[in-house]
Amino acid sequence: MTRPVPTLGNPKNTIEILNKYKFVFQKRYGQNFLIDEHVLGKIIRSAGITEEDFVVEIGPGIGTLTQYLAASARQVAAIEIDDALIPILEDTLSGYDNVMVIHDDVLKVDLAKLAEEENGGKPVKIVANLPYYITTPIIMGLFENHVPVESITVMVQKEVADRMKTGPGSKDYGALSLAVQYYARPELVANVPPNCFMPRPRVGSAVIRLQRHENPPVEVQDEKLMFQIIRASFNQRRKTLVNGLGNAPELRIPKEQTTAVLEEMGLNPGVRGEALDLQQFAELSNRLKKILE
Ligand code: SAM
Repeated sequence: MTRPVPTLGNPKNTIEILNKYKFVFQKRYGQNFLIDEHVLGKIIRSAGITEEDFVVEIGPGIGTLTQYLAASARQVAAIEIDDALIPILEDTLSGYDNVMVIHDDVLKVDLAKLAEEENGGKPVKIVANLPYYITTPIIMGLFENHVPVESITVMVQKEVADRMKTGPGSKDYGALSLAVQYYARPELVANVPPNCFMPRPRVGSAVIRLQRHENPPVEVQDEKLMFQIIRASFNQRRKTLVNGLGNAPELRIPKEQTTAVLEEMGLNPGVRGEALDLQQFAELSNRLKKILE
């Protein structure tokens, strides 16, 4: 099957399309379009897209990355919120018969249902240059709603990529690090400077690939409880873990119980949540679950 070669991905053609449609960038939608063919090629290669793949793209913009995905994948579903981009996408994707544009807010789309209907429930690949203002809810939503994903290859703020990869002892360590590492193996693909986008973002960006674990690296009896504990620990970062879990409205774990469990685990009862790694959060939640039952 031969599909058209992508035409977007360079400044000249991007400007031409933007002028043709008198497109006005919407800051509130985090619109920074890719204009670098080298970076686009790298995203496609690292995502390992093949003709078998069903790919979901979040925020296609004018269809730049979408053209590359459509040229390599079996089927692409691209979800775009901005009304003004829909006629542009019809134009730039007209040569491809394997792209479905969904005009909606990605946070309102049932992606598990989409994978069920369009891919027989088999795992999909997510590839995107994400709108930065909602990176965390998008990634957490994919994991927590149990969307069947094989991998997630996304452009994010450099600082967010760092947060996903890091462990205890770093100021970037937090709930996002733990959620990402529980569900997937993060791998930095490339750092991307602002001049690869139009308009240029104020911050550096990075492409990160999250390869879903077949089985989580730690054994957790109650995932929901573990993530409630993690959130409560990092919501009150400066507080001790004992106070954090005691104050969280959805937990309200008596201080004596957390203290006893921390001691059993050989940890100082004055420890802060930010000092615990994933294994320790798993053990803490398993032990607390037994007591709370
Ligand atoms: N993929 C394009 C590219 O690489 O050139 C555009 C990427 S741009 C960083 C983010 C895109 O996400 C924009 O097109 C924006 O309108 C869209 N977007 C923002 N919020 C969204 C949401 N809640 N649901 C779906 N798309 C959204």
